[in-house]
Amino acid sequence: MSDQIILSKNSIGVGDRFAHQAQAQLQACVLADKAGVEVIPVWNKSNREHNIIGSEPISLRAAADAAVKALGWTKPYHVDADHINFETVDRFLTPSDFYTIDVADWIGKPANEADVQAFVAKHPELNGKLDISNTSSEVKLDADYVAATASKYLAAVKEAGRIYRKILQAKGDGNFIPEVSMDETDSPQTPAELLIILIAIADEGIPIQTIAPKFTGRFNKGVDYQGNLEKFSEEFADDLATIAYSVAHYNLPRNLKLSVHSGSDKFSIYAPMRAALTKFNAGVHLKTAGTTWLEELIGLAEAGGSGLALAKEIYASAYSQRDALCAPYATVISIDAACLPLPATVEVWSAQQFVSALRHDQANPAFNSNLRQLLHVGFKVAAKLGPRYIDLLEEYEPVIAKNVTGNLFDRHIKPLFIA
Ligand SMILES: [Zn+2]
Repeated sequence: MSDQIILSKNSIGVGDRFAHQAQAQLQACVLADKAGVEVIPVWNKSNREHNIIGSEPISLRAAADAAVKALGWTKPYHVDADHINFETVDRFLTPSDFYTIDVADWIGKPANEADVQAFVAKHPELNGKLDISNTSSEVKLDADYVAATASKYLAAVKEAGRIYRKILQAKGDGNFIPEVSMDETDSPQTPAELLIILIAIADEGIPIQTIAPKFTGRFNKGVDYQGNLEKFSEEFADDLATIAYSVAHYNLPRNLKLSVHSGSDKFSIYAPMRAALTKFNAGVHLKTAGTTWLEELIGLAEAGGSGLALAKEIYASAYSQRDALCAPYATVISIDAACLPLPATVEVWSAQQFVSALRHDQANPAFNSNLRQLLHVGFKVAAKLGPRYIDLLEEYEPVIAKNVTGNLFDRHIKPLFIA
């Protein structure tokens, strides 16, 4: 069984919208390695993103393989079919070895009543006080709560099973890492809900190695966590306790861990996450979201000349289309339009002014989280530029690579995994 694909303790999901930064991203993991900490790279690209860019999943595999070869990386690496479902998974079956099975849309769909009854009957041990150590408060469930929770999540878990078995049939047992994601939904899951979800997943026979719940607070794209830090820290630690308990008592892989989606740039939660991970000797998968694309823009701006000019052009275009660009992301961005600089203002900015506004350095008074979020969702503008954008990525490769690597290593890997 040694050739089973097992996700390591520390891993980072990196996105590479325009398929030019895989080496620079991998370099951040090389730096972690040099610092004595193994952080395994997982290249992820969702079906939605492939559709917007007009790319095929096989291209992500090719870029990852090429980067690994170029840097002589000998540790594992993976390619994640991010947020796939039963209908969209097919073109990912060959190139991917990690599947983020997204069943958020199935949460709350009425479960089969007989399935709910069977679940409750199968798990009398959930009735009463559970001996989960290290939780912030005691976990005490009753049959009504178990039934209500099962009926909220069982349809989603059954659908995850259907998708898992489709992938299994194509790839074979142990040849891929299954993740179940429930993050793209309205309300966060409590640790007690997570427990019941995990037990249902174990019953369904899905050997998930990562689970992505929705956490309390807002995980807006490209900016810091917004919410009650204390509550998040407590919930995160309780989730870790719940996972440890589930792994000990149910048929789930021993390396099962949390996957934190939209995890990039959530600087204020890295210290409490790190403390909880250390306490529970647990690992985590940090899935980043678009942070690399923004570093491409920063690199272009920093380069000056035609790079800076194109960065300004992309901003002006994103600004004029801001309503259309933002609409699909309404739940994951928070932009105060009054705080967006006018394109005419940006037009006369120096390279340093543009970089200061965009780079995620909260200590810099010129940093503008509104501009950053708008450009985050503005990647469609660059996608439409086609070769005009790609040619400049290649022309200014060194300055862009420096920003991509530095962002991942200094602002993400270091505070979360190394400190
Ligand atoms: Zn997600």
